[in-house]
Amino acid sequence: MFVMMNAARLGVGNQSLGLTEVAYQNALAYAKDRLQMRSLSGVKAKDKPADPIIVHPDVRKMLLTAKAYAEGGRALAIFCTLLLDKELHHPDPKVRSDSGELVALLTPIVKAFLSDNGHIATNACMQVFGGHGFIKEWGMEQFVRDNRINMIYEGTNTIQSLDLLGRKVLGDNGAALKKFGNLVAALILEEGVNEKMAEFINPLAWLAGQMTKFTTEIGFKGFQNPDEVGAAAVDYLRVAGHMAFGYCWARMAQVALREIAAAEKDVRQADAFYLAKLQTARFYFARLFPETAMLMRTARSGAASLMDTAAALA
Ligand SMILES: Cc1cc2nc3c(=O)[nH]c(=O)nc-3n(C[C@H](O)[C@H](O)[C@H](O)COP(=O)(O)OP(=O)(O)OC[C@H]3O[C@@H](n4cnc5c(N)ncnc54)[C@H](O)[C@@H]3O)c2cc1C
Repeated sequence: MFVMMNAARLGVGNQSLGLTEVAYQNALAYAKDRLQMRSLSGVKAKDKPADPIIVHPDVRKMLLTAKAYAEGGRALAIFCTLLLDKELHHPDPKVRSDSGELVALLTPIVKAFLSDNGHIATNACMQVFGGHGFIKEWGMEQFVRDNRINMIYEGTNTIQSLDLLGRKVLGDNGAALKKFGNLVAALILEEGVNEKMAEFINPLAWLAGQMTKFTTEIGFKGFQNPDEVGAAAVDYLRVAGHMAFGYCWARMAQVALREIAAAEKDVRQADAFYLAKLQTARFYFARLFPETAMLMRTARSGAASLMDTAAALA
């Protein structure tokens, strides 16, 4: 049964990825077309009665949030697909078993992190449409609704987080997490001295450094009181999701920087695709990744604020 369920969970994550992307494409087109007020830094569309809303910082933030979640999700989904191929077909049995362990670790992350991000992204893209987002004919509210079910079925996202923290991480004493950590460590070692990569590698290295201590702390508390695991699990999955996305985004930035440098060397214009990747990577690390600090803090706050609440939930 779990062979089918795991495939369905990866499928649900991919469905949210598609919804994130289509919502983004619609919102981007709308933001370039819709005129409303003037840019704070001076008129941009002199020939028009107002500027298109894409000039406004917060509209750009909503668009970039969806773009960063779509492209980070696509990279992680493809990474999992490669691991699945290796698990099934690689000639070396050790590579087959390592790849299988990594896919098992990443499956609840793909299901829950991509569908939670899809919720954030489709809502942000609906918001870009202002009042029109609420109107059925534009189709934006349907993307939000279609994504909403992905957080519920094939095991709710809370159940995914319990699977990740309880079974996949604490249940094997962190062995699979360590395997993923080794991939992150190899990238940090490779790029740690490259100044151009510092804005991507430094936050990733910070989180990788925190992850073992953070996990061990929850594990110890969980021995004494299993509710501690339930109280931390949802936040934990989001932190782990950002570690996986951070790894993917750092690798994308690495390739983009390499391609941009190659273009500069040949005195040709860099491909817009790589410039866009680099700018989106910068946005991701500056604006989305830092929520990991808050999530670790809330996870560490413990179960008491949830469980010692008999009067509040009477
Ligand atoms: C449109 C749709 C299509 C579906 N299609 C199928 C299908 O084809 N096949 C199929 O088998 N099922 C299907 N389902 C069922 C779906 O998988 C379940 O609804 C889903 O897994 C949640 O289970 P539940 O509804 O029993 O919620 P519950 O288990 O009652 O959960 C209610 C809430 O409690 C939380 N919760 C429950 N247990 C715990 C726990 N131990 N710790 C912390 N929180 C917990 C949940 O996270 C959730 O927030 C479908 C559901 C919908 C809405």
